Order: sequence, then C-alpha cells, then structure tokens
Amino acid sequence: MAISHFTEDLNGGSEITNEAKVIDMPPEPCPACSDTRMRTLFSATDRLYQTTNKPFLVVECEGCRLMRLYPQPTPFELNQYYPGDYWFSPSADATTRLAQQYRRLVLLDHVWFASRAMENAGGEGILLDVGCGGGLFLDMMRERGYAGMGLDFSLAAAAIAWQRFAVPVVCATLSKAPLPEASCKLITMYHVLEHLFDPVSYLQAAHQLLTPDGRLVVQIPNAACWQFLILGKDWNGIDVPRHLINFRASELESLLDFTGFEVVRRKYFSLRDNPAGLATSVAPGLDPMARHVRGVQETPGMKLLKDMAYFGLVLAALPITAFEAACGAGSTIMIEARKKQ
Ligand SMILES: [Zn+2]
Repeated sequence: MAISHFTEDLNGGSEITNEAKVIDMPPEPCPACSDTRMRTLFSATDRLYQTTNKPFLVVECEGCRLMRLYPQPTPFELNQYYPGDYWFSPSADATTRLAQQYRRLVLLDHVWFASRAMENAGGEGILLDVGCGGGLFLDMMRERGYAGMGLDFSLAAAAIAWQRFAVPVVCATLSKAPLPEASCKLITMYHVLEHLFDPVSYLQAAHQLLTPDGRLVVQIPNAACWQFLILGKDWNGIDVPRHLINFRASELESLLDFTGFEVVRRKYFSLRDNPAGLATSVAPGLDPMARHVRGVQETPGMKLLKDMAYFGLVLAALPITAFEAACGAGSTIMIEARKKQ
C-alpha cells in the first residue's frame, strides 16, 4: 500500500515524505471500520500553541471517509501537546470583570441548550459535565438550580474548579468514573470526543451512567462545515495534534446510533465557539489563549491592541458563522440525545 509516512532526520526532527514507501509496521486500521486503506489530506503541525514542530498527517479512511490524525500519538506524547494552562479559560489568572462577563455571556448558548435537555429529562437529578475544565459551565448551571459535578483528566483543572466555584470534580476517565449506573440525568461533553483515543468507550459509559430518561449533550467541531472546505488545514477545528478524530456531523450521529442513542435536537451554532473559531483560524497569532499559553511577551498597550483586534475579528465572524450554521454547515454541532427506547 502506498501511503505517506514519517522519517526521522539526523537532527532528531522529522519530515513527511509523500512518495510511496514500504512501511515497516502494519498501518493502524480505521477506528470506525477497521479498513487500513487511507489517503493523506495534508500534513500540519501544532499551529496554535506551538507545543511541537513535529509534522502530523491528517488522513481520510478510504472505507468510511472518517478523518483522523495519523499515526496516532502515544498517550505520553499526547500529554505533552496539552500546555499546562490548556484546561483553563484564557483569563483564569488575571481576569478583569469585563472578561469574566464576556465568558459568561458567550457560554449562555451551552447553558440554555443543557438546561432544556435537563427539563426534557424531567428537570431534576445529577448533571455530570465531562471535560469540565475550570468549572464555569457548572457554576452557571448551578445558578439555574441544577446540581452538577465535573469530570476531568486534569488534577489542576479539578483543583481550580473546586477553589473558584466549589464545584466537585472527579479526576478520572468516564469509563472508570466512580459513579453508580443510572445515576445521572444529564451528561454533557463539550469538545471532548475529538480528543479521545476511544470515543466509543465514553459514549458507552455515558449510556450506562444515564437514567432511562436521561439526556446526553455532545458538542464537537463539525468537519462538514464551509470553513474546512475553504480554509483546509488552517481551519481551527482540526487542531493538530490534539484532535485525534475529525468528525463530520453525520459521523457523530452514526456513532451515537451505534452506542445506543437517538438524536433529539441539533444546533450548528454556539456563540462561544463558532465566531471565535473563525477568528483564530484566520489569525492564530492573535488568539488570547494561544498568546497566553505560548508566553508571548507583550507590553500592556500591545496586549490591549491585540485583544481588541481579535475581538474585532470575532465580531466580524459572527454574521458569517451564523449564516454558515443557518445553512446546516456550522463549524460546530451540538446534539441532545437520549437512549433508544
Ligand atoms: Zn473507516
């Protein structure tokens, strides 16, 4: 089989060759259909946070068209591509009131969507937010009367959520969460599945943890958006090398169906993600989180100027991304699902 692969150069770095080569190891099969045939879409590196300059391939399975990072990094390697501050919001350190209010404002979409899902599930019971980060979402849900707890890989994130919002957080993977079966009314997973080696295990675990009338809310970047068509590898939703699988909305729905869920509602726009995603795709160097993570040295005046330029881009992106979403090709998809009856 002729595919691209990686060769180590003498400096310890690596380069990608596109010539046909015989690969020593058997190619990793597609996680969805087990087909080993694939075509290379492009090579890319960590453009946003610059944790590495190693190139990666994004390949498409020739059997089922699922796109994924190839080859998949080891868990140890992947851990190094998450900067220490990744789990927190950009302004977690020195927040101004305005920045805090902005973060709360743009998170309202998620809060409203989840609140309605909770009402659909009967309105009372435990909410579990998987990949909860610093806990702001859970804090906002609690303000609306929904008792919640978080789950995150990161002990540091769990500590922040507890210290800032007194939100209880389990530090575990969902498959091994210390929670009894059928104990949750609502499980939310915002931008989690695309980061996982085995998203199926998370959805199966969610299925077990939910009550019979419980609801699952999932959000991912939608690779079937116009932005990916136009911007290609510069689209922020690909996020090499942290996104291991790049789902199209239809592929997420197939995965939900496979794991025993049926879709109740879909939403292709979120105020926090779609406009900022386009702004970051166009100008990754202005992204406040990326500047923070990369430790970019800025005078206060320069910081303000860059923040304002980025905010201007987000505002300009708002009508474009809203139109894209209205046409069913939004750059994210949020789904409410329930167990198949
Ligand atoms: Zn496949």
